[in-house]
Amino acid sequence: MKKLVILGSTGSIGTSTLSVIEHNPEQYQAFALVGGKNVALMTAQCQRFHPRFAALENATAAQQLAENLRSLNLPTEVVSGQQAICELAAHPEVDQVMAAIVGAAGLLPTLSAVKAGKQVLLANKESLVTCGQLFIDEAKKSGAKLLPVDSEHNAIFQSLPVEAQNQVGFCPLAQLGISKIILTGSGGPFRTKPLDEFSTITPAQAVAHPNWSMGRKISVDSATMMNKGLEYIEARWLFNATADEMEIIIHPQSIIHSMVRYIDGSVLAQMGNPDMRTPIAHTIAYPNRINAGVAPLDFFKLKELTFIEPDFARYPNLKLAIDAFTAGQYATTAMNAANEIAVEAFLNEQIRFTDIVGVNRSVVENIAPIAIREIADVLHIDKLARELAKQAILQF
Ligand code: NAD
Ligand code: MG
Repeated sequence: MKKLVILGSTGSIGTSTLSVIEHNPEQYQAFALVGGKNVALMTAQCQRFHPRFAALENATAAQQLAENLRSLNLPTEVVSGQQAICELAAHPEVDQVMAAIVGAAGLLPTLSAVKAGKQVLLANKESLVTCGQLFIDEAKKSGAKLLPVDSEHNAIFQSLPVEAQNQVGFCPLAQLGISKIILTGSGGPFRTKPLDEFSTITPAQAVAHPNWSMGRKISVDSATMMNKGLEYIEARWLFNATADEMEIIIHPQSIIHSMVRYIDGSVLAQMGNPDMRTPIAHTIAYPNRINAGVAPLDFFKLKELTFIEPDFARYPNLKLAIDAFTAGQYATTAMNAANEIAVEAFLNEQIRFTDIVGVNRSVVENIAPIAIREIADVLHIDKLARELAKQAILQF
């Protein structure tokens, strides 16, 4: 029986993870469930999965949860606050930690799991976007195994040779005969929308992703392709890839989830229906396979698989992210923080869809470059960038 901590259990990835566990109850136990403040859903998850611990970041919400569980006669112990969450992520009884808290709030709990040498199922993109080097170094030191959950990175991981799978973060791609890491993306809901209509895009339109069902923030990021930009950064860290070893291709049907090119002309791809339970199940069971509850891919129902080169005029956030990686971790951290603020402002109808990149760009350009040596540096840049982003928003 493997014991899991699910960081972000009440979110989109968290609920999909619980769904995979539900299909394999004799092999996996939800040891601890962790969320932000959704008391009702956390109560229901405790009723269903009987975790040893449940944590909510928000203290008032945690108190309410504890009262609910008491009245239901459930023995789950309730804790709250980031410190307690970090301790759960490093708990000695735990085998695996699903890192699926959204945003910078996921950094410390994920790092805590890495430092404790856990098998870390990495969904939280921000960990690598802001602290790539720190995470890879810590994983090397502690022996933590990083398994990518993000569907593209999981597809790439599956298409790599075992030697590379065993060296996440420092695999010698060229030595293994690999010429390119090919990151695919759907292009989001506005792939064919006339560019002059972009400024009137509403939050409801932006969160309606054609292929994937996801949280609101990441759905907006898919529409701007900032998501692919963050994934580009994630891929460079995970697979130790140079800029020349990266290729980005728009593949609107999201059936191929990413690929690896080899020097002999072979291209290996991972395919499947767009359902996050597949990469989640892959990481949970690795190197074995388990039933994810996902419908088998029916090739005869697929009309076509198409591929398009990304256009940076349509997706300026993608270009911004690629350039930020070259500038350094201060820039990717600042861009990520700015983007969180900008997306929230867009969802609250304070700025237009087309202003998101303006906010992001102005923050990256105005932040003073520093070397990132420890997590405190990241948190410092993150905080500054958020302030700059809020100021920038007032100008739109
Ligand atoms: P979501 O918004 O649906 O869920 C986020 C979870 O984090 C919730 O459980 C929420 O309660 C929790 N949370 C938020 N703030 C918290 C805090 N301060 N302390 C503790 N918990 C907190 O997001 P999601 O779509 O599930 O995405 C989670 C992460 O996985 C993100 O980093 C995202 O980029 C990444 N990811 C998601 C998908 C997807 O398909 N949804 C795919 C790839 C990667
Ligand atoms: Mg993805």
